[in-house]
Amino acid sequence: MKPQPVIVVHGGAGRVSEDRREAFLDGIREALDRGLEALESGGSIAAVREAVMSMEACEVMNAGRGAALDVEGNVSLDAGFMEGATRRFGGVTGVTSTMHPVLLAQHMASRGDFGQLIGAPASDELAHELDVPLCRPEDLIVEHRRAAHAENAHDAGADTVGAIALDADGHVAAALSTGGTNVKPPGRIGDSPIVGAGFWADDEEGVCVASGVGEVLMREGTARRCIRLVSSGLAATDAAAAALAATVDYEGDQRGPCGVILLTVDGRFAINHTSESMPAGWAGVDGNSEVRDVWSRTIAVER
Ligand code: ASP
Repeated sequence: MKPQPVIVVHGGAGRVSEDRREAFLDGIREALDRGLEALESGGSIAAVREAVMSMEACEVMNAGRGAALDVEGNVSLDAGFMEGATRRFGGVTGVTSTMHPVLLAQHMASRGDFGQLIGAPASDELAHELDVPLCRPEDLIVEHRRAAHAENAHDAGADTVGAIALDADGHVAAALSTGGTNVKPPGRIGDSPIVGAGFWADDEEGVCVASGVGEVLMREGTARRCIRLVSSGLAATDAAAAALAATVDYEGDQRGPCGVILLTVDGRFAINHTSESMPAGWAGVDGNSEVRDVWSRTIAVER
């Protein structure tokens, strides 16, 4: 029996303040609506692209316009994309000229036999070459981020946005987009554009995107680890919990809160996080869906 097509999205593993909760949940609902429509008409690649573009436009989320500021008060964006049918991946870092770096990452995923990862200034040059909506670097900055920056707030809002989907042909895809960590040093690259750390998609095995402290996710290869665990026979929820446990299991190690969404090739999925919250949701073509800001947290960590 063919699995039911489904899309799962998240708006970042982090901490959502009470006053922004509804805006986050609305952003998730919109991303699911747009992603589901694309899933039915165009498949998993279109679905994850559209869902992430929707969240890049959502100003409370740390992606596109409204992304977190670096230590100098600027926004620079990273994004990743992977197609499960070919396992081609794409990544871009240091983008300042479009609020939709996911479009650049998708383009990079179509290059060569494997795809490619590129950094600044080539990533901005690519934006000018492609038919993507352009903007000025200052257009990416919103007031609540300026205020957080003025307070040097490291944890204002949630983090990276991401989407994974399985379509009617059995193809999976992953997309994610971020401004990176708050007050990051200029030039810092997190896990989001890094294949295996922030994302993984393989039609034979499953698909995962991660969020949280990029240095932890890169060190642990969290997205790849999740899907390897699924391949070794673990249920989606157990794989997510085990991969997250690997990010916190050293006593005295100053690691940060993380989260994952993952989807198996037979349409089972997990949403899990060690962060205080992770606004996320899923929607199936059968009309079922669910949106929440806190999911089953199997591991409690102090930030
Ligand atoms: N993972 C992203 C990064 O480290 C940000 C996040 O999801 O918290 O750049």
